[in-house]
This record gives sequence, structure tokens and C-alpha cells, in this order.
Amino acid sequence: MIEQPWFTVDLHLHTNRGSADSNLAPRDMIARAQAIGIGAVCITEHDNAWDLREIATLAADSGVIFLRGMEVTTEMGHIGVFGLTEYVGGIYKLRELRKVVDKLGGIMVANHPFRYKLDPRFSFINEDHEPIDPERPETAARLEIFEVCDAVEALNGACSEEENLFALKVARHLGLAEVAGSDSHSANSIGCVTTLLSAPVRNERELIEAIKARKTRAGRGLIAGTVAPFEIPA
Ligand SMILES: [Zn+2]
Ligand SMILES: [Zn+2]
Repeated sequence: MIEQPWFTVDLHLHTNRGSADSNLAPRDMIARAQAIGIGAVCITEHDNAWDLREIATLAADSGVIFLRGMEVTTEMGHIGVFGLTEYVGGIYKLRELRKVVDKLGGIMVANHPFRYKLDPRFSFINEDHEPIDPERPETAARLEIFEVCDAVEALNGACSEEENLFALKVARHLGLAEVAGSDSHSANSIGCVTTLLSAPVRNERELIEAIKARKTRAGRGLIAGTVAPFEIPA
């Protein structure tokens, strides 16, 4: 395998162990992660967290680092959280989630913030939201969700290119950390997009510190063999 200049992390994925909408068995996740040569994979189930000992047992000797996060459903969308060890009542409210995460020294990511929000055909999904002007990231940057989050998922494996690019522009406008996750619910898409780091992270704490320090980029190309950061086209 070609040595990559980046340490790659799939920051967002669901298994059938903790997410009812996923077809991904933990053993298949491990096999696929090994096969593609990814650095680390974060298991981020919907509103519940893995026990770290369980992850350690499953992933032992795999050569891949498995980390734990959670994708919390809130009134303002899905938030990727690191540092949370279990679901806490009340975190459906974004500000309450922030308080809990701050106490634990964790971080919050605005996951796929513009999924279905730029296409008028999906406006029925967003009936209680302000329409978003795809030409004006600076306006979308004022949305409350970005006041509360540390990072923006600028590349999500299940979003359109337009939605991802708009998220990247908003992240740049705000100077928030840029991350990426496949949002896999099956094995084949693992690592289709990855968070890029210049140095490896070995545990959840190191990942949190790297994101807090804005040392991450969103990127893709791992499966094709050449990883490149996601950039706004000139
Ligand atoms: Zn989500
Ligand atoms: Zn997800």
C-alpha cells in the first residue's frame, strides 16, 4: 500500500449494533476498514454510545484504531459528539447538549448541516426552517447551530456535492474546524470521505484536541489510492 501523507479518519458511521437503520455488522466494518488501509474509524451511533471495552475487544489486532462518538439528534439537526460516554436526558436541546459536552471537555460537529436544504424540491422537509440561499454562505453562517458547534462536517458521504461544498464555504467563513465522515450504514462506503490529520490520533482525547486546534481537513480519495483535501474550486 502507498504511504499516504495524511492520517485518515472516518469520523461518522453507524453499525447495526447501535443504529436500527444500519446494515453494517461490526465485524464487516472491521474487515473493510482493514482492507482500505484507513487510520481510524469513529463509531457514531444514533443517540447511544459503545462501551469502550467492547470496541477494544472487537478491534483487537485489527491494525485500525476504532474510536467512539455519538450522533445526537437535536432540534437543530444531527450533531456529531466526541467526549460523551452515554446518552444524557435533555440533550435533544442543542444548548443543553453544549453544557453537557463542555463539562466533559468534548466537541460538537454540525453533521451534514445542509442535507436537503439547498434543493427546493425538498422544502417540505424543511418547512419550519428559513430558506437557504445557495449563493450566500455568509448568511447561512449566521444559523444558530454554528454558534454552538466547534466543527462543520464539510464532507459527508451521503450528501450531494453542492451540499458539501456549501458546508465547506460556511466553515471557511466562520473559521470552524473542517471534518469529514462517510455516514456509512453499510461496508462499501466506509472511508469514501475522511477527516485528514497530519499526525495520527490514538484515542478519543487526541482526536478532540486535534479538532479543537483546527488541525483537521476534510478529504477524499482513500479508496482510489490518493487522498486529497476538499477545496473550494477556483
Ligand atoms: Zn445524521
Ligand atoms: Zn449519521
